[in-house]
Amino acid sequence: MAPPLDAPDFRHIETWIFDLDNTLYQADSNLFAQIESRMTEFIAHRLDVHPGEAYALQHFYFRTYGSTLNGLMICDHVDPEEFLSYVHDVDLSPLHPNPALRPALARLPGRRYIFTNGCRRHAQRVLEQIQLAELWDDIWDIRTLDFKPKPLPEAYTRVVEVGAFDPHAAAMFEDTARNLVPAYDLGMTTVLIRTGSRWSIQGPQVAATPRQTFHHEIDDLGDFLQTIRL
Ligand SMILES: [Mg+2]
Repeated sequence: MAPPLDAPDFRHIETWIFDLDNTLYQADSNLFAQIESRMTEFIAHRLDVHPGEAYALQHFYFRTYGSTLNGLMICDHVDPEEFLSYVHDVDLSPLHPNPALRPALARLPGRRYIFTNGCRRHAQRVLEQIQLAELWDDIWDIRTLDFKPKPLPEAYTRVVEVGAFDPHAAAMFEDTARNLVPAYDLGMTTVLIRTGSRWSIQGPQVAATPRQTFHHEIDDLGDFLQTIRL
């Protein structure tokens, strides 16, 4: 059945860009909560600080440097590979495939990409687990970004270069609002997935991202993708 004429118009979109964590799977799986606790543990061991202090530092780095890893690299000279393999060593069994999402993604015309501050291996494991592997032209991970994470503007200019696409013909889907701002500024169509998690606003104690930087705010990615005009 064709979508109604007043459905969101994505007919100009040729490049489809998706965040991974809490975007392609539900935030209530708490997988990202596992990753967050692994980060706290890593910092506590590596910097030899109390877990409370490690947690505070983790959030300070996230707010100040775009990601916890970027803060650890800049301030503490942490080896990113050591960090990534530790924090992504998580149990994926809480993740389940969403049967509606695969056909909704598969119908999108053009190229599809993952754009994540995590690492490629984590993305591949997650995509296998939720049965969304093989739908992607590429995975842009933190190494693709030269360890300059979203929302740093360099991350976006890097993916535009690597993917060789026109940002005005690209759409980006994210659960972390602040990560959509540079995409909006480059002319991409931006879609915020509301998860109810504090990360979807920006992380604690940070002013909310202005709403005019999202073209669409949605609750269910699969439903939304099935209803847009292509
Ligand atoms: Mg996310």
